[in-house]
Amino acid sequence: MANRANHRVLLGCGLLCAAAILCAEVIVPCAAQAPAASPAASGPATPGPSLGSSSGPSIQSPVAASNFPIAHDARLAGDVKQTRFILDLDKPIQFRAFALADPYRVVVDIPQVSFKLAAGTGTAGRGLVKAFRYGLVMPGGSRIVFDLTGPAKIGKSYVLEAANGQPPRLVLELEEVDRTAFVQLLAPENRPELRPAIADANAAAGPAEASASAKSAQPPDARPLIVIDPGHGGIDNGTQASGEMEKNLVLGFGLALRDRIEKSGKYRVVMTRTDDTFIPLNDRVKVARTQSAALFVSIHADALPRREGDAQGATIYTLSNKASDAEAERLAEAENKSDAIGGVNLTDEPTEVADILIDLAQRETKTFSNRFARLLMGEMKTTVRMHKHPLKSAGFRVLKAPDVPSVLVELGYVSNKGDLQLLVSENWRNKTVGSMALAIDAFFAKRLATAGAGK
Ligand SMILES: [Zn+2]
Repeated sequence: MANRANHRVLLGCGLLCAAAILCAEVIVPCAAQAPAASPAASGPATPGPSLGSSSGPSIQSPVAASNFPIAHDARLAGDVKQTRFILDLDKPIQFRAFALADPYRVVVDIPQVSFKLAAGTGTAGRGLVKAFRYGLVMPGGSRIVFDLTGPAKIGKSYVLEAANGQPPRLVLELEEVDRTAFVQLLAPENRPELRPAIADANAAAGPAEASASAKSAQPPDARPLIVIDPGHGGIDNGTQASGEMEKNLVLGFGLALRDRIEKSGKYRVVMTRTDDTFIPLNDRVKVARTQSAALFVSIHADALPRREGDAQGATIYTLSNKASDAEAERLAEAENKSDAIGGVNLTDEPTEVADILIDLAQRETKTFSNRFARLLMGEMKTTVRMHKHPLKSAGFRVLKAPDVPSVLVELGYVSNKGDLQLLVSENWRNKTVGSMALAIDAFFAKRLATAGAGK
């Protein structure tokens, strides 16, 4: 037990240490309206190559979408020595650009923008750019992330006013440099501490219900708190097939699940996201920890790479150091890349500490996670098509809250025709949400009976 307390402190430090973000060039040209929230968002991050180079049209939050600047074209020009990126806009915007290493990326933070770009924009690279993607990273802030073919520096970058029949444009010029020069550009004095910006923004935006209740003077709500975590979001689309994106499917599902369990009145529910916003993995875990959640349920949909055969059905994952099989390992690796896709830098994250936490402090939590996973499977298999091995485990970063029972549900495979039909069906969603709600009831009925407490 003493161990557990110590390691909590360690984790706390780890989260703070994850703060630094490497920032090479900061340019704020042009007049233009200041964004409501600072777009300098940067959370924790993992290095690692991106999942794919895809970036579909992004869905903007419904709030006053028409007031956001509109980006209507994006293109690359140049060669492997010098590559230029041009974004056509309907009005000038402010921006901030910086580079990240391992993998080499350039991130451009801008105010929230409605991206009305042709489908597939960014999937084909040119010159120094392998691919790029774009989307919302927080309310008020959008981001463009470039995967580079190698080290490059941001040469000139500027916003042009409309002129000579050309619309306002954001222009970014990348120049090839060697690794030494690249790393020099990331020198410590060029690393503003941007982490607090996103922490504040997330506190204000993400778990809105929770912060509101914390501020109110009313007696604390003793009902167990459940965190529902729709995977991906914003710039990170997740898996995709036939025009359906995982980030949208799981958000719809998460909201339906929230509505169902809130209706019972027995639980409080906090969502890690309620719109198409990118949330770093650590921030999702943090929501569960800071709210002292009694259960964390992450919602995803899987896909098999085209040549790797077919698979179908829902799978329930818990955390383990060693993946239960090769497929679980592949999946955890893919899901853990979310931060790299979002352009977040996590090189400072002390993963060794996190691993120790899993070994020691999490043993008790693990029992509860596994119990919930089994209850969930028991309920789901009566109504929902399950994978032939429906209970698995692997090293999912989003399940690493050491003191919150956590499971990750892959609802099915978007790469499987039958599954995809189910995933978009309201009837299927209602049935699945219903069986999850029953499992949650069973889980807490037992916990309350044995522990006599809400957690
Ligand atoms: Zn996913």
